[in-house]
Amino acid sequence: MTTFSSLGIAEPILTALTDYGYEIPTVIQEKAIPAGLAGRDVLGSAQTGTGKTCAFGVPILQRLAQKGAGQRIRALILTPTRELAIQIDDNLHAYGKNLPLTEAVIFGGVGQTPQVEQLKRGVDILTATPGRLLDLSGVEIFVLDEADRMLDMGFIHDVRRVIKLLPQKKQTMFFSATLPPEIMDLVDTLLHDPVRAAAAPVSTPVEVIRQEVCLVDRGNKTSLLLAILDQEQVGNALVFTRTKHGADKVARDLNRKGVAAAAIHGNKSQTARQESLRKFKAGEVRVLVATDIAARGLDIEDLAFVFNYNLPEVPETYIHRIGRTGRAGKGGTAISFCDYGEMPLLRDIEKLLKKPIPRRDHNYPMEVFEAPRDAKGRAVNADDVEARAAAKERRRLAPLLFERVEGGDQKQRRERDLEVDVAEQQPPDAVNVEVRKRLDAVVFAEHHEHADVAEEDYV
Ligand code: AMP
Repeated sequence: MTTFSSLGIAEPILTALTDYGYEIPTVIQEKAIPAGLAGRDVLGSAQTGTGKTCAFGVPILQRLAQKGAGQRIRALILTPTRELAIQIDDNLHAYGKNLPLTEAVIFGGVGQTPQVEQLKRGVDILTATPGRLLDLSGVEIFVLDEADRMLDMGFIHDVRRVIKLLPQKKQTMFFSATLPPEIMDLVDTLLHDPVRAAAAPVSTPVEVIRQEVCLVDRGNKTSLLLAILDQEQVGNALVFTRTKHGADKVARDLNRKGVAAAAIHGNKSQTARQESLRKFKAGEVRVLVATDIAARGLDIEDLAFVFNYNLPEVPETYIHRIGRTGRAGKGGTAISFCDYGEMPLLRDIEKLLKKPIPRRDHNYPMEVFEAPRDAKGRAVNADDVEARAAAKERRRLAPLLFERVEGGDQKQRRERDLEVDVAEQQPPDAVNVEVRKRLDAVVFAEHHEHADVAEEDYV
């Protein structure tokens, strides 16, 4: 059996890993750590949950510590989401607790002054989301984390821009769950003779997850969700929606019915997202409603139930989503809601699984057998139409409501905080009451225009 000490890891880090509760290395760690320690480029096919943070973190810590602490940014880790950035930074801090190195994390969405101050004082290892431009000429080790997600989220240009700022000579460790052609192009330009390291996938094998699908009309999905939460005595659950707007709406409706729920997605302030996650982990919130991208990288253990409030567009996403339940070999349950308009998506998923998903009987059987269409008769996705309309209304309302608030940043924050209030049923102030009324009106209005929801409406 491979041990951490047989991988060539120095004593101070070994002790820290043991203290952190790591006993044996995971597959990706076994493969990537020796190569990383030797200064080799690494191409890791690994998703969140495989232990990849330690796989690149240990080589960074050990190699930098050999030269002592410095003043410049010597290792840069680029990762797509703020949650991942925070988790990575926390982990590095724990693995490196016996070393004199400093770490920092930087991302958008919070007041930047403390982050900038910290950078001025000097850091060895920086974890960042793409988009910030810094002096990166001293970087010796570069990690690109979740490269395929960066591509999905439209960050690839930012990533390329950051790469241009890095010195030519450096060690690169590249991690991606999948390696589509666009990613391989990046690999070819960025990596030199990389050691390939593939992790066993982490998701619980699909076979051990109890899967069910409920055929249900769109308007009955929340009632059905409430009924199942009750019937199955669901302790906590992660619910996936298609749009950010959908996530807010489901959370709001659940709260109204007395089920503590919080939404988590890219429109929320970082503080609000962290707070929702904390409450969920602490059991104060029973249901976390998330979009795919926001849910990625969330480190939640003991999740017995995953609900697909909407079916995903890409069948593989279904597997990723349901793999969030039943971690560590424990069986979990994944229940999916499918309205008439989503039937083609269900067929694609079943084709991928090579078997049908059992139908679950319930009190809200499908009665609408017609997909929504726009004025020109084209099939549309009702959730996209609704999200688009709500976003439009929000944009229209925002300047009216916040013109008196000074400063752009402050205005944005007020808008976001307001959304959080609306979604989480905080005691409303007079402004919120007005906004909620209008948002509700939009939610229930019928819109027949064709809508391609902008990417910003999903993440
Ligand atoms: P990651 O893929 O880096 O996000 O890691 C997923 C989870 O596994 C995190 O909670 C890590 O702290 C944990 N983990 C990583 N490596 C090990 C290990 N060798 N032994 C036990 N837990 C680990």
